Amino acid sequence: GDVMVDAARLPVKSRSLRQRGRLRTPGGVHSNVRLAGPQRFIEYAQGPWLFDVDGQNYVDYLLGQGPNFLGHAPPALVDTVNEACKRGLIYGGQHKLEVEAAEVVCEALGWADMVRFGVSGTESVQAALRLARAATGRTKVVRFEGHYHGWLDNVLMADGATGWGVASAGQVAGHLDDFFLLPWNDIDRLADTLAWQGDKIAAVIMEPIMINAGVIEPKPGYLETVRSLCDEYGVVLIFDEVISGFRLGLSGAAGRYGVIPDLATYGKAMAGGWPVSALAGRAELMALFGTGKVNHSGTFNGSVMATAATHATVSFLRDHQPYDSIAEHGRALMDGLREIGTRHGLPLRVQGLPMAFHVSFGDGDVTDYRSLQQLNLARYTSLAASLVEHGLWVAGRGVWYVSAAHGADELEAALTRFDKTLTDWA
Ligand code: PLP
Repeated sequence: GDVMVDAARLPVKSRSLRQRGRLRTPGGVHSNVRLAGPQRFIEYAQGPWLFDVDGQNYVDYLLGQGPNFLGHAPPALVDTVNEACKRGLIYGGQHKLEVEAAEVVCEALGWADMVRFGVSGTESVQAALRLARAATGRTKVVRFEGHYHGWLDNVLMADGATGWGVASAGQVAGHLDDFFLLPWNDIDRLADTLAWQGDKIAAVIMEPIMINAGVIEPKPGYLETVRSLCDEYGVVLIFDEVISGFRLGLSGAAGRYGVIPDLATYGKAMAGGWPVSALAGRAELMALFGTGKVNHSGTFNGSVMATAATHATVSFLRDHQPYDSIAEHGRALMDGLREIGTRHGLPLRVQGLPMAFHVSFGDGDVTDYRSLQQLNLARYTSLAASLVEHGLWVAGRGVWYVSAAHGADELEAALTRFDKTLTDWA
């Protein structure tokens, strides 16, 4: 199974809090993703470290599923955001920080003219889909196997699924009808689908690098051809950069691969851990919200907290450019894990980019979701549970994230703990 929890092995304080929590909160968690995560209760976090209620520490390579790109409680940001919040949080009107945050985001991205802030990646994806449909007058959307676009009815897919079907009880199957589901990194399948139904397709949506499933990069030329096919058929290209945005570089995957979408969604690394998302894009499209023709609303959108956090985080990334040092840590970590795996005689597979990579067991070419399923993912999940017990905070699905706060001490601790885990686990 893919569940990391063995309640009987939890340290005493976590076990007791978990029992209490489960009485008042379904499953004891507020996001179903965490049902499968480590159930240890965290007392506090600082930089790249987590400290739990039972006195154990962890090097954090989960980063709260990605947001803590500058480490936990980054001092420069916490003070700035707290200070801003003393002037109130939500005015039901406009304020200067909204303008400044929008400016700094668009300037960092380089290609985007305008931005609308939201609270979660899930909702910014929905805003993107609505905008694409409004702009084209079409309803169909192409999406890809293994790409995650939030938990709502029209985009949720079961883990491991390569065909349509509801992933959750209560999900309305009919909401999937307007989507074509294709294998990613396969340009012929997309070309065929556009040739067949291009005049009905509003948008193609994808993670430009499939971080959610295996951290798989686009094949050389793939994104470029997707871009030109979208142009040919008048289809809006949406990059879901909720994970890759501001993490692969200031201009995200679009900048790294040199392919510009029409719309893109952001979240996670954009705001240093505060809950903020964004939809950015070309002015002709984004302006449709401004005319009131296309509705995008939200009580909490553009709050003082959100815009202060976004402004401070993106300005920090722009001014300090931590990308090289993150890559250096990530590369050393990837190499170290491989070396330890080899030494233990295990077929450990480490692939991806230094700021976000994937660890599993198995071999073979992994270029899409189907080939990823050929690896032994369950075996890694079992290792991940043991890694947590040894003080490495990692996800059961194999993704490791590196932050700007990770340094030499954390690298040494991580490799020592990984080595010890493999010794104990074997
Ligand atoms: N899109 C991608 C690529 C994601 O990885 C996620 C979340 O992990 C989402 C959308 C949904 O974002 P949120 O969890 O903030 O709603």
